Amino acid sequence: MTATAHPAHVPGQEVMIRLAGVNKWYDKFHVLKDINLEVTKGERIVVCGPSGSGKSTMIRCINRLEEHQQGQIVVDGIELTNDLRNIETIRKEVGMVFQHFNLFPHLTVLENCVLAPMWVRKTPRKEAEATAMNYLERVKIPDQARKYPGQLSGGQQQRVAIARSLCMNPRIMLFDEPTSALDPEMIKEVLDVMIELAESGMTMMCVTHEMGFAKTVADKVIFMDRGQIVESNPPEEFFTNPQNERTRLFLSQIL
Ligand code: ADP
Ligand code: MG
Repeated sequence: MTATAHPAHVPGQEVMIRLAGVNKWYDKFHVLKDINLEVTKGERIVVCGPSGSGKSTMIRCINRLEEHQQGQIVVDGIELTNDLRNIETIRKEVGMVFQHFNLFPHLTVLENCVLAPMWVRKTPRKEAEATAMNYLERVKIPDQARKYPGQLSGGQQQRVAIARSLCMNPRIMLFDEPTSALDPEMIKEVLDVMIELAESGMTMMCVTHEMGFAKTVADKVIFMDRGQIVESNPPEEFFTNPQNERTRLFLSQIL
């Protein structure tokens, strides 16, 4: 991808994700400390930071895989509370891709992709399969549809996981270190799919240490350390002029 392939990207004004004064504890351990964050429609956020800094916890709070104890999380206009109907709605709108793919091993690629649309959205099988094939083509593996996840490479499995999420027609996509478990030669094929998704206008929040990806598509890079957001800036600023000592140290270690 060259710089010219990316026309100026202007995210919308509509706030898709808002965290205000969010605090979370695991028992006595204060894992998220006063997190404030807004993501607008079409915005692409990259989250980085040392292991254990709370990146996964924050992103998992956004689709309520984890509960926060203080503050407010509003996703696509719905506040995340204990109301199960809200949680159900959010899970339909927010796709999530994990480090370890989390495909169902006993189901074919196609069955993995049609499961949620058929059972959650009540989409008829024929239509769900057509949508699934469409997304499998987009991630360039339609020929793998009848195989089982175990018969695919890691990169292919992760692309299936992305296609599977997209089959639910989400308004927001969350990624938690989607390339960390992959062999180096497979990282690019997954990043290419993510770049294409970003360019299609999807609102995305990606925990990743792929700084090339951050530079290519991120509107904002967030650095977390010990449960806090210590820096949040556009990539130009983030990489060339990091404000915080901990960000500088982190960048010097990974770049
Ligand atoms: P990161 O994704 O940045 O590596 P995590 O959000 O996974 O960080 O974890 C942040 C901290 O919270 C770590 O110290 C981790 O050990 C702790 N932690 C994560 N999940 C749990 C849990 N379910 N119970 C208790 N502690 C947890
Ligand atoms: Mg993590």
